[in-house]
Amino acid sequence: MPVKAYDLTGRTAFVTGAASGIGRACAVLLAEAGATVHGADLDARGLHETATLIKDRGGTARTHHLDVTDRTEVRQAVESCERLDVMAAVAGIMHSSPVLETRDEDLDRVLAVNFKGVLYACQEAARLMLARDSGGSIVTMASGAVDTGGPGLLCYGVAKAAVVQLTKTLATEVGRYGIRVNAVAPGWIRTPMTDRHDAGAQAHTEALMARMSPLGRVGEPEDIAHAVLHLASDASAFTTGQILRPNGGVAMPW
Ligand code: NAP
Repeated sequence: MPVKAYDLTGRTAFVTGAASGIGRACAVLLAEAGATVHGADLDARGLHETATLIKDRGGTARTHHLDVTDRTEVRQAVESCERLDVMAAVAGIMHSSPVLETRDEDLDRVLAVNFKGVLYACQEAARLMLARDSGGSIVTMASGAVDTGGPGLLCYGVAKAAVVQLTKTLATEVGRYGIRVNAVAPGWIRTPMTDRHDAGAQAHTEALMARMSPLGRVGEPEDIAHAVLHLASDASAFTTGQILRPNGGVAMPW
């Protein structure tokens, strides 16, 4: 029996990026907490695997094969939910290039997925929550990149900083309607994204990242899923407009 404040029984959660890594871990954990989970992603096979994981554990899952950069697809998928209590806008891509070599198309693509994709999910979720006067919790996925500069991280860091600003702005606009909006800013998490980013050098990068953490390790997708569950649930009923930083203590901003 889950602790009552974390119990999502009877609620519906929509998770973008649900086919892989952090999004999959969020979808599975929110379902374990009792929510009906709508997973959305570009990767149809990964989505199916996530839905199977949820169903095998006794949960309820629906899938939406979509591109988060397509506002119409996002709207149709969100509106298909009978109710919507939680939006977790997790889908994102990594891109690395030095500032002097960054092309317009790199910036446009990263902003399209990592910022506009999150914006569309937030807008459609908030519209539905407002129309149904149901309240709800919206969780966006930022990154530890918002706390520091990093070589090659211009496009990624700018998009994630925009997500933080979106989160704070929307929180001020919809709080009075019982809708909370918060961001999660993970540190280095072992996922297919970071594996691809560091192809061939994962062990070296992970050792480096682990040394930067007082806890002496990198993160797992489940570490982030638990932060998302906290923000999605009534356990965080008095929390909005905040950035939660599950980063192993790598950064400790005021
Ligand atoms: P991941 O394993 O690559 O998962 C991301 C998922 O999003 C993939 O299934 C991907 O599909 C999907 N996706 C990408 N573009 C999409 C689009 N346009 N429409 C729909 N789905 C799309 O990555 P992850 O590491 O779990 O990252 C999840 C989120 O956490 C991202 O926003 C990332 O920036 C953030 N984050 C990650 C870390 C980390 O260390 N891993 C740290 C901080 C923040 P495809 O595989 O088909 O592209």
